[in-house]
Parts: sequence; structure tokens; C-alpha cells
Amino acid sequence: MKKTYRLINGMIASLLLATSAFAGDAALEKKFDGLIDPAEMNGWLETMAAEPNHVGAPHNKANAEMTLKQFQDWGWDARIETFRALYPTPIKVSFDLLGDNGFSATLTESPIEGDAPTFTDKALPAYLGYQGDGDVTAPVVYVNYGMPDDYETLKRMGVDVKGKIVIARYGAGWRGLKPKLAQEHGAVGCIIYSDPHEDGYAVDDFYPKGASRPPQGVQRGSVMDMPTYPGDPLTPGRGATEKAKRLSRKDAKTLLKIPAIPMSYGDARKILAAMGGQVAPEGFRGSLGETYHIGDDGAAKAHLVVQSDWSLKPVYNVVATMRGAEFPDEWILRGNHRDGWVMGASDPLSGHIAMMGEAKAIGALVRDGWKPKRTIVYLSWDAEEPGLIGSTEYAETHEDELVAKALLYINSDGNGRGFLNVAGSHSLQHFANEIAVDVDDPQTDGSVDQRARAQLMIAAAAKGADGDAKKLGALAANPSSDLPIDALGSGSDYTAFLQHLGMAALHVGYYGEGDDNGVYHSLYDDFAHHNKFVDPGSAYGGALARTIGRMVLRIADAELPPVRYGDFASTVSDYLDEVKALADDRRARADAQAAANEAGAFARAHDPKKPYGAPTVLKPVPHVNFAPLEDAVDHLKKSAAAYDAALAEKGPALAADKKRRLFALAREAEQALKIREGLPGRPWFRNSIYAPGTLTGYGVKTLPGVREAIEQERFADADKYSALTAAAINSYAAKLDSAVKLMND
Ligand SMILES: [Zn+2]
Repeated sequence: MKKTYRLINGMIASLLLATSAFAGDAALEKKFDGLIDPAEMNGWLETMAAEPNHVGAPHNKANAEMTLKQFQDWGWDARIETFRALYPTPIKVSFDLLGDNGFSATLTESPIEGDAPTFTDKALPAYLGYQGDGDVTAPVVYVNYGMPDDYETLKRMGVDVKGKIVIARYGAGWRGLKPKLAQEHGAVGCIIYSDPHEDGYAVDDFYPKGASRPPQGVQRGSVMDMPTYPGDPLTPGRGATEKAKRLSRKDAKTLLKIPAIPMSYGDARKILAAMGGQVAPEGFRGSLGETYHIGDDGAAKAHLVVQSDWSLKPVYNVVATMRGAEFPDEWILRGNHRDGWVMGASDPLSGHIAMMGEAKAIGALVRDGWKPKRTIVYLSWDAEEPGLIGSTEYAETHEDELVAKALLYINSDGNGRGFLNVAGSHSLQHFANEIAVDVDDPQTDGSVDQRARAQLMIAAAAKGADGDAKKLGALAANPSSDLPIDALGSGSDYTAFLQHLGMAALHVGYYGEGDDNGVYHSLYDDFAHHNKFVDPGSAYGGALARTIGRMVLRIADAELPPVRYGDFASTVSDYLDEVKALADDRRARADAQAAANEAGAFARAHDPKKPYGAPTVLKPVPHVNFAPLEDAVDHLKKSAAAYDAALAEKGPALAADKKRRLFALAREAEQALKIREGLPGRPWFRNSIYAPGTLTGYGVKTLPGVREAIEQERFADADKYSALTAAAINSYAAKLDSAVKLMND
């Protein structure tokens, strides 16, 4: 799925001195680096990406078996764990524009001369997993990105999509929200197309000349309602084992009820050209070379059919274990998915081969006599693309054992080229910084940390740099300040571990230079494209292996937990400030709107020749009771400072049993952030600090119970979740207090 990019806004790091609290065994890591071979990894990439790898494809199963065999050859105790999940596959997909300019959409992607794998006949057609099936005929209406603000604009323009097929362009929000919002507004079908403005010829020459999306390129993807819960739609909260109790399909909350398909801009432009009615407002215009219309004249009428096979399909995870010599019941989890929408060279195999490189190197170290103290578990996930299914079912099946044993989960997904990006639990921020200092950059002489800092310093020096960019630039300029890590929403396999089980998690990748956006989830995301335009020779695949491998080695042998709680405390404190400012801004806006309404300003100020209605009335914003959260954050700051100081002063000399207890407390502290009843309307999501937004899909909402309650005008929930989140933070802080007491006793 989609990687996350460095979020510049809302991140303010604490100015803490970077000390080598979590340094590793330099000789061991040097040896490990020497065992990472990007050329060999690139060979695996070519083999694994030779044919389509969607769930159920024979080649995806062959890749599972190849991964299993290699892990075993490298000395791991490995097996395949199989689940059975609801996974629809297309039986019939068709779209016809009716009338004089009528045509039938292609819905397949043509091969590229000289790029052999694209000549496959095994690729899925243009298809969206978990759309609702149907056979509908209706006029087509253009809804821009199909996000809430777009429907607000359309409403003010007097456009209703009830009974219509909507056509939305990709971008501005997660794919799955587009048909969901269309359905909520009464549409009977949904098309999502890739406008060249986002990832086509407006960005670069298109493939094969350049990296961008060709006219016939289609972005497949899942439209399962993952912000409600990911994984098998029929087994929320429990593993999709053979005998699992299952919901019936009609009771599964994450399935759409209207048909939806993705489309190329080659086809979509013909639909847009046939549409009349009002001219699309400025923010609605893409890069197709014609005037964009809304289609509210009903001129473009279409027939859309989608029919799927809704049977259960097998999901093959490869689980490989290297048992710890001293603490076999303390686990480090590391995973990457293996399934793609088509070949999946960039997404996900470029990350998967890094994981394989690490596993081979770890195997060689063990053969040479290294004995990791803790147990290392490597996980090759299946069925991530349709809805994080492999990882979610694993986490749900093994919940009790995982919460009792696993210290953290480290994830990667498709990997690019350029700059290190780490996101995840802020207690691990300093640890991530220490790792980055020790990893050599493949393209420049220096570390990946220096390269990341260089980019931030340049951004801060740019004309018009905003306050956050300047703040980050100042941190980057001072090598003794850590760089902040981003918070995690969703979009890859860390979700079940971080947000359902409440484990610490990290997501790691290199991005910013190679370009795979234009082939994302298409036939053209293959080895030739990746090797030419994204990461030639898998050089940054090697860097990813050296980065995550180092994390795994260090935690496997660490004497003390690799956490620094001051970073987490200051980050949560910043989140609280943001949420308070959000409530104030929202209140001011509601007041301004009420005054404008009272004065009849909307009617008076608008161009009478272009009717545009008044906006949806904002509810007045009451004062939210932030006091419990303010008290909890104060408690957290004090506890974190006391812990960090005690650990630095007393940690190294502690008795072995006390050191072990600190690891257990670190694990329990993260889990204390879970809210038992979960987030409003979606109990599967239990983390009180980090969640994907219900209206962002992948994008993170921090302090989600409170933040989304304010954004969505559920003000009673804002007070309720201020208290529940405060209770979670207080119990986290209480774990740190126990640890301090343990160290001081
Ligand atoms: Zn992926």
C-alpha cells in the first residue's frame, strides 16, 4: 500500500542531547553490513516480480514457498501459516458510455514493447477490492476528489448526486473514502480515475520513456472500509482460521453496497468530454486538456456492471523464528508484505527483498556463533493490498501471546530512493536517530542521518518556508538534536500491532527521489520500471536492510529498553496544544459564519450570475473540558523525565532481573495507551494516541478520540474521550513510575 511521507506540519521535537544510550556492537554491525548484498537482492526482486502476485495468484504462492525455503536454508525455524478470508475476485467488469459519443472502457492495460512481464495474461483487470457489485445505468457527475469538501461545494452549486454515477479523480484522500462518501450521498455507482495532474504526463514523461502513468494505466486498490476495521471483513477482532465464527456478508460493516471501478485517464477523458452542465470550479480542474464540467445536465449517461466471486480464499503468511538464547519469550517482530496488485516490484517487493537480505545476514551471523539474546520473528505477509489481511489475522489470532511477549513491531513496505523516513511510537524516536547516524548513505559519502538533515536544512532555507519547516531546519542543523519521527496512521501492516494490540511500532523506508507514483498498483509496477526509475540496483534496498537489520540486532541484545520517554511526553504535549487550538479555531469559524449568515452576507457577496448557496451551518463549539488531559500530560512529563534520568544514572548497573523487568514495563506501558472500548464507532481501533482518520483513511489523527470529535461536531464525545485518553496516559505514566521505583529501590 501507500507509504507515508514526512509530515512537516505539527511536529515539534524536543531539544534533547543525542547521547549514545542505545549503541550497538560495532563489530557485529560491521559484519552484518558486509553480508548485505544489494545485487543479490536485486536478483530476488527480478525473480519475485516476474508475474502477477495478487492474492490467489499462483506466482504469489510460489513466492511464499521460495521465501519459506530461503528462510529455512538460512537457518530460521520457518513455516507457512494459512488463513481463509473473504476476498472477492472479478467475474465481470464493464463500463459503457451511452449515446452519440458512446464507447466501452478498456479496463485492461496494454503491454510495453521490450518489457516482457507486461505481456502477461494473468493480471487482474481494472478492479477495486470489496466494492459492492451491481448493474446500474445513470448519468455521470464529476465530484473532483470525491471528498467531504467537494460535496459541500457541489451542494452549494445546487448539484445532487442522488441516483447518479459519480466520477472522482484519485488524490486528496484515501481511495476507499470516495465510493463510501458517494454511497452516503445517494450515488448508485462510482468511478475513480487517475488524472494526469496527479501522476501522469503533467508530472513526467509517461512510461516507458519516463516514470509517470501512461494513458491506459490504472490504479487498482481496495475500497474496504479499513478506518472501521481492517482485515477479513467476516472476522473482525478474531483470526480468520478455518473454523472461525464468521459474520454473513450482509452484516460485514466494511463492505460497500454500490459498484465501483478504477479507470485510466485515456478512458476517463472521453467521459469528461461528453459531460456538460456547470463549469467545474477552480479546485476541481485537472490536467486533461479540456474544460472540466460537472455533468449536471445529465448529458453523459453510462452503464456500469461489476460482478464478483465472493468466496473465501487462502492467505499465506510466512513466519520465521530465530530463538533467543537468553530471553526466548521476549520477541522482536519484523514484517513486510509480499502480495502486490499486479507484479508489485516497487510495492511491496522492494521492501520484501530488504527483509530477506536481513534474514540471510542474521542467519549467517548465527551460523558464525552470534546468539541473539531475544527471539527474532520475521514475517512475510500475504493479502496486505486488499485490506492488511495477513498481518491483521496473524495479530488477532495470536493476540494473547503477542501482547505477553512482543516488544515491538518493525515494518517496511515498498521502498524508494533518497531520504530516510521513520514513523511510529515516539518512545523509540531517539533509538531511530541513533540508528540513522550509523547507516552509510548509498549515494553520498556520509550517513543517512546527514542526508536527511541536509534535505530539511534546504527546506528551511527556501523562500516562503513555514514555521514548521524552519523549526525542523534548526533541529537538522544541530547534529546533537534528534530529528522528530512522524506519527503513524494506517496504510500498511503495522496497523494491527500498533492500533489494535497497542504495541510499539516503527515503519521505515527511503523515499523522495525515485518515482513509483505513476505506476502505483498498475501493470507497470514491474522490475524494469523499478530498476530504472525508482532504485537502480536496489542500492537503497540495501540501505533499508542495513537500517532495519541494525534495529533488530540492537534490540535483540540490548541490556536496557531502547526507549526515551521524554520524546513521547513532549510529542503528546504538542498534540494536546494542537487539539486545543483546533477547538478555538473551529469556534471562531462557527462564530464568523453565524455572523455572516445573520447579515445575509453569503447571498449579498456572491456573483448573482453564478448561484452559489450558503454553506452547511457549523454547530456552535462549546468549551471542551481539556482539564483531565492537561493533568495527565503534566503527570506524563514528570514521570518521563524521572524515568530518563534514572535510566541514565542507574540503568547500566542494575541487577539482571531488574533490567528484565524494565523491558516488561516498557511493553506494558505502550499497551496501557489502549482504550478498552476503542474509538467512537470503531472499537477495533484502541490506541488513544495514534489512529488513521475516519475521513483521511491512511493519514494519522493524533489524540483521535478528541480531535475527530471536535472536527466532526460530536462535542459530547470530545469530553468523554478527553477523560478516556487522560486515563490511558495516566496509566502509561504509572508504568514509568513503577520503573523509576524499581530502579531507585
Ligand atoms: Zn504495499
